[in-house]
Amino acid sequence: MVKTARAYNSFEMAQTQFDRIADLLDLDDGVRALLREPLREYAFAIPVRMDDGSVRVFRGFRVQHNDARGPSKGGIRFHPQESLDTVRALAMWMTWKCAVVDIPLGGGKGGVVCDPHDLTEREQERICRGWVRQIARDIGPERDVPAPDVMTSAQHMLWMLDEYEAIQGMRRPGLITGKPVGLGGSLGRKEATGYGVVFTIREALKELGVRIQETTASVQGFGNVAQYAIELYQQLGGRVVCVSCWDQKARTSFAYRKASGVDLEELLGITDAFGGIDGDKARAAGYEVLPGEDWLAQDVDILIPAALENQINAETVRLIPERVKIVAEGANGPTSPEADDELTRRGVFVIPDLLANAGGVTCSYFEQVQSNMNYFWTKEEVLGKLDLKMTAAFIAVSDLARGRELSMRQAAYVIAVDRVARACRDRGWV
Ligand code: NAD
Repeated sequence: MVKTARAYNSFEMAQTQFDRIADLLDLDDGVRALLREPLREYAFAIPVRMDDGSVRVFRGFRVQHNDARGPSKGGIRFHPQESLDTVRALAMWMTWKCAVVDIPLGGGKGGVVCDPHDLTEREQERICRGWVRQIARDIGPERDVPAPDVMTSAQHMLWMLDEYEAIQGMRRPGLITGKPVGLGGSLGRKEATGYGVVFTIREALKELGVRIQETTASVQGFGNVAQYAIELYQQLGGRVVCVSCWDQKARTSFAYRKASGVDLEELLGITDAFGGIDGDKARAAGYEVLPGEDWLAQDVDILIPAALENQINAETVRLIPERVKIVAEGANGPTSPEADDELTRRGVFVIPDLLANAGGVTCSYFEQVQSNMNYFWTKEEVLGKLDLKMTAAFIAVSDLARGRELSMRQAAYVIAVDRVARACRDRGWV
C-alpha cells in the first residue's frame, strides 16, 4: 500500500474540492451548506450467522448525498477499511458524476466493513441480504438505486435484489444495477467503466494531436475497470507496459512490467476474482515484479489509476516522470488536491474521475431504463449510446475548460455543481 504523510480523509478532500468550485461559481451560503453535506445517511449493524455457527456483526452504510436531479445512484463496496467518511465522499462524487454526464440521477453510495477474501460465498450472501433488510425502506427504483463497486459483483447484486423483492412481494428489477445479463442486467455493463475511461483518453489524445497507436500506458489496479480499459486501449493500438495490483497473500501491492506490452489474456488467466495477479506465475511468464507504487514511475504517456483513492498524493506525485501527458482517473478520488495542483503546474492533461469513470453509472442508468421497460438492447446499441454520452460530456467539459481557462477537473465540477445547484433552487429547497 502506498504510504501517505498524514491521515487521509476522503470526505474532507471531497469537501475541499467542492469549496473550490463553490468559490468559482460564487454559490450563496444556503446552497453551499446544503451541497457540502449528504442529505441523508444511514449506518447500521448487520448480524450474520457464519458457517461455523458463530455470529458476527458487520457495519453497513448507505449515504444519499443529493437527489434533486433524480433518485440517488451509487455502488456498494465491501472493504475492510470502509468508513462512513469514505462513503460520504463517494456519494458526493456520484452526485457530480451523474450531473456531468447529464443523466437524471442523484448521488449515493454504500458499503460494508468486511473483507470478502476471508468470507465464504454463503457468508457473503447473508451479508448482502442483511444489508438489504436494514435499508429496504429507504432504497428503491424511485428512491435510491445501488450497484456493484469494489469487491462486489453481479452475484452480490442479485442476492440483494432477491431479498428486496421478497420483502416487497413483487419483482422490482429497477432497484439495483449491475445484475447478471439475463436477469435484468445490461449487455456492456461490465465493459462500461473501463471503455468509458478509454473513450475519454481517445478524445484527450485528439486534442493533444497524438495518435493513440504511438502511446504507452501504465495502470494501477487489475479489476473490472482496469481490465476493460486495457482491453479497449490495446484494441485501439495503445501499449500497456505495467499493471499493479494488491497481493492478498503478501498483504502489499506489486507492479508487473513487460516493456513489449502486457498480454491481457495471459494475465487474466493468472488473476483471481478480486483482480489479484499471481506473482509467481507472472514472473514465470516473463513479467518483472516491482514494488506496487512503481506503476506511476513508468516512462509512459498515460497513467490510469484504477484501484483506490489517494494514490497520487503530495509524496507520490514526485515519482511521475516528465513524459506523462495524461492521467485518466479510472478510480474515484485517486489524486489528492496537492498532487492535482502539481500535475496542473506541469501541464499534465488530467481527465478527472467524475468524467473519466462515468461510463459505469451511465450504463447503469441504461440498465435501469431497460429493466423498467423490460426490453433489452444489444451490446452494440448500449456501447454506442455510451460512447455518444461520454464523448458529448468530454467535449462540453473541454470547451468550458478552454473557454474559461480552467483545468478539466474544475470545468467538470463547474458544470456538475451548477446543474445540481440549479435543481435545488428550482425545486425551492434553497
Ligand atoms: P475491483 O475490486 O474489480 O478491482 C480493484 C483492483 O485494485 C484490484 O485489481 C486490486 O488488486 C487493486 N488494488 C487494491 N488495492 C491496491 C493497491 N494498494 N495498489 C494497487 N492495486 C490495488 O474494483 P473496480 O470495480 O475495478 O474499481 C476500481 C476503482 O474504480 C474504484 O475506485 C471504484 O470506486 C472505481 N469505479 C468503479 C466503477 C465500476 O463500474 N466498477 C465505476 C466507477 C468507478
